[in-house]
Amino acid sequence: MIIRKAYKFRFDPTEEQKAQLAVEFGCARFVWNHALNLRQCVYANCIDENGKGENINYVGLNKHLTFLKGTENFGWLKNATAGMLTQKLIDLDKAYDNFFKGRAKFPKFKKKGHSESIRYQLDQRNILSTYSAGEFIKLPKLGFINVRWSQLPFGTPKMATVSKTASGKYFVSFACEIEQAPKPKTSRVIGVDVGIKDVVVTSDGFQSGSPKFTYQHQRELRREQRKLSKKTKGSNGWKKQRLVVARVHEKIANCRKDFLHKLTTKLVSENDVICLEDLNVKGMLSNRKLSKAVADIGIFEFNRQIKYKAQWYGKQVIVIDRWFPSTKMCSSCGSIKQIKLSERIYRCDCGLVLDRDLNAAINIKSAVLKAA
Ligand SMILES: [Zn+2]
Repeated sequence: MIIRKAYKFRFDPTEEQKAQLAVEFGCARFVWNHALNLRQCVYANCIDENGKGENINYVGLNKHLTFLKGTENFGWLKNATAGMLTQKLIDLDKAYDNFFKGRAKFPKFKKKGHSESIRYQLDQRNILSTYSAGEFIKLPKLGFINVRWSQLPFGTPKMATVSKTASGKYFVSFACEIEQAPKPKTSRVIGVDVGIKDVVVTSDGFQSGSPKFTYQHQRELRREQRKLSKKTKGSNGWKKQRLVVARVHEKIANCRKDFLHKLTTKLVSENDVICLEDLNVKGMLSNRKLSKAVADIGIFEFNRQIKYKAQWYGKQVIVIDRWFPSTKMCSSCGSIKQIKLSERIYRCDCGLVLDRDLNAAINIKSAVLKAA
């Protein structure tokens, strides 16, 4: 199966590259805002042959951009990569298209200081076939960039997106098309109970734990937010502290993502069939106490990852009816009883004594096997 995979890496630009990137981001923002404004003006003031407001697309806007570059006032636009600016106009076309088809809100003007991003069509001659020596990809006007490889990308990158976060970090991502080989078959079927104490407990007794370190970072976050609130808004100290807060936010998000990726990859690698319960996550989110924990662990994200990874690797995810009483049922004799959230152990009159989540995971597996 051919899949598109995006790889994102942090990179460390040199001072010269930072300066050039500031030019690229600035010009990109100008071109986006200028083109958006122009499109709105033309739409409001010019009527096409059908009596509707006229739309100019990137072809017309690109001609206008070439004209601007030739003028004295806007000649500085030539300092940015031409292809990248054209790409911004194509992106604006897409944003309009998404708006007309009801998939997105109307495109917004970009403000300075928010996260910025630009895209390059890659010249295949500027991509080396080897990742060694830190030299892999050359970007226009920037040269080789020093990428912090966390893994090696597969496939041929066709586009590169360079972005800068509000906290001042630089990232590059490549969109690659690759042929995905399925993971080896293991003939194993597993039931997965998704919960709070452990993100998952499986029917074979594996307990994932939960990313507790986010709690530690959360204390750090509260501390730094308190410091921020004490500073005068707009002052230098405030600006600095705002960066610190943004970095802690990033740390928390990264920890959580990393935890979930490792977990979902493990589950699809080790099993052929993964049985899940269709959690009424909305219902869980309406319970205040639980909602914080659920949002924290990212049960939505777990479900999303396990489904797409199963598809990638030729595995199967089976979701059972959410009203199935997985927690209340004894996995040995099938009798049903009420169990409080605080009860960690399931005890049955038949003699079964089992961790409640493990009992639920076994029930989920049996339900799928019975239905098959
Ligand atoms: Zn029983």
